[in-house]
Amino acid sequence: MVSRRHLLASRRRARRVKAANNDLSAQQWRWLLAAWNHACAYCGGQYAELQKDCVHAISRGGRYTVENVVPACRSCNASKCNAEVTSWMRRKRLDEKRFLERWVMIIGSVRDSSDLEDATLALAAAMIEKR
Ligand SMILES: [Zn+2]
Repeated sequence: MVSRRHLLASRRRARRVKAANNDLSAQQWRWLLAAWNHACAYCGGQYAELQKDCVHAISRGGRYTVENVVPACRSCNASKCNAEVTSWMRRKRLDEKRFLERWVMIIGSVRDSSDLEDATLALAAAMIEKR
C-alpha cells in the first residue's frame, strides 16, 4: 500500500528534479561542450553525441547546473549512473587527475565571471597559466 507520507515524498522528489532540470540553459550547455573540447569529460573520447551528465548525481543531491553538468559519452554516462565520481573513475581506470584539474578550472572560470563570454576568457587564461 502507498502511504500518504510516501506519496508526498515522491511528489516532493519529482518537483525537486523538475526544478533542478531547468537550471542549465542551452547556451550554458554549448559553452560546456566547448570548454571540454567537444569530448567526453571522463574518458576524453570525441563522440558526435555527448550527453549531459551530473558529476554529483541528482540522487546524491547534485544539481543540474553549469557547475555540475559535464558532457559524457553514452558509455561513460551509462556506466557511471549514480556512482560517486572519483571511486567510479578509479574503478574504470580513467584519468581522474586530468578530469578533476580541468573540472576545477572550468568551475572556477564560471564562478569568477559575470557571463559566459567572460568565463571563456578566464578559462583560456587559466589554461595558459597551467602550461
Ligand atoms: Zn566517455
